[in-house]
Amino acid sequence: MDPSKVHPETIAAQALGQVDERTRAIIPPIHVATTYLRDPDNQYRSGRVYARADNPAFDTAEAVICALERGHQAMLFASGMAAATACFQALAPGDHVLAPRVMYWSLRNWLAGFATQWGLQVELVDMADPAALRAALKPGRTKLVWVETPANPLWTVTDIADAAAAAHAAGALLAVDSTVATPMLTQPLALGADIVMHAATKYLNGHSDLIAGVLVAREDGAYWQAVRKVRAQLGGTLGSFEAWLLQRGLRTLPLRVRAACESAGRIAAHFSAQHPHVGEVLYPGLPGAAGHEVAKRQMHGGFGGMLSIRVRGGEAAAVATAANVQLWKRATSLGGTESLIEHRASVEGAGTPAPADLLRLSVGLEHVDDLIADLERALARAVPEAVRA
Ligand SMILES: *Cc1c(COP(=O)(O)O)cnc(C)c1O
Repeated sequence: MDPSKVHPETIAAQALGQVDERTRAIIPPIHVATTYLRDPDNQYRSGRVYARADNPAFDTAEAVICALERGHQAMLFASGMAAATACFQALAPGDHVLAPRVMYWSLRNWLAGFATQWGLQVELVDMADPAALRAALKPGRTKLVWVETPANPLWTVTDIADAAAAAHAAGALLAVDSTVATPMLTQPLALGADIVMHAATKYLNGHSDLIAGVLVAREDGAYWQAVRKVRAQLGGTLGSFEAWLLQRGLRTLPLRVRAACESAGRIAAHFSAQHPHVGEVLYPGLPGAAGHEVAKRQMHGGFGGMLSIRVRGGEAAAVATAANVQLWKRATSLGGTESLIEHRASVEGAGTPAPADLLRLSVGLEHVDDLIADLERALARAVPEAVRA
């Protein structure tokens, strides 16, 4: 299969149509070997040496993700965090990096803690504001600009093409955490990004049953080789079974993302229409949303399955709403078949950009009418009569 000649649905459904040459099996085997035979001439005929550095169990998932992102090469990691942190650890102490104020909380904590102690000069900027990004770039000193779009948990949108132009003009690389957009909706490399990162834990696998991460590079080069070295040396390497599960989950990615986008759009529209219990819906697909125009330009086929609602009645009403749902699952994470609800402010604690009345919703594959009815019921029980508009 030539991935440049077929649609993403076709790439995903057949995992590029690859067949195991030895057995003719249409599903790849799970390779579990940790080490590879050295030939009598002391060379490694397979090019493989030791499974901390590389593993044929990764080949199918890496090839499919690379094809979907239309990149040069993909690299699997043991988690989204292992993939993201490798991008920073491939730099040198003293390097200046820019990251968003609104971003995945654990990575923000790592940048403020470990990365800063290790010597990176980390600066947080408002990535929804192109002027703020340009003002923060230090030409020659800024090595990496990290953006996340749409960004947790406010679903702030960053203009990838503009950020790439700004970063490149200053001599920096642009990396995009595209976990929420997925390769079905946005292809950051085509917009000029150098690296795309996904928490494959989320939509790419899609079944809440494995932790994995992936990076895709637009081209080979010294930086990409430094990232590869970080994976091989630090050992943030994915397990064989997880890699196999990931290639299985990827086969339904297009269908799952399309369904989640459709339901999320319906839920956003339902609760944003002058709702008595919901003050605001944060979703880039809503015509009034701050990032809607940029999202329309760089997201194709939907605006994602993630949204947040701000509950009238403040923190207590938001927490009570989460306590009252029966169908939605109170749990962290996103991108699975089951819909999840979470009060982010209590998860993130001090310094969070999440308002206290915010509930984050990950929309799964249940019937959308059931999801809306359950949330309506929970809101009606949680929001005090006095604050209803
Ligand atoms: C979950 C997530 C991560 C981290 O991925 P893990 O697999 O949990 O390490 C990074 N970015 C975003 C946007 C995420 O949702």
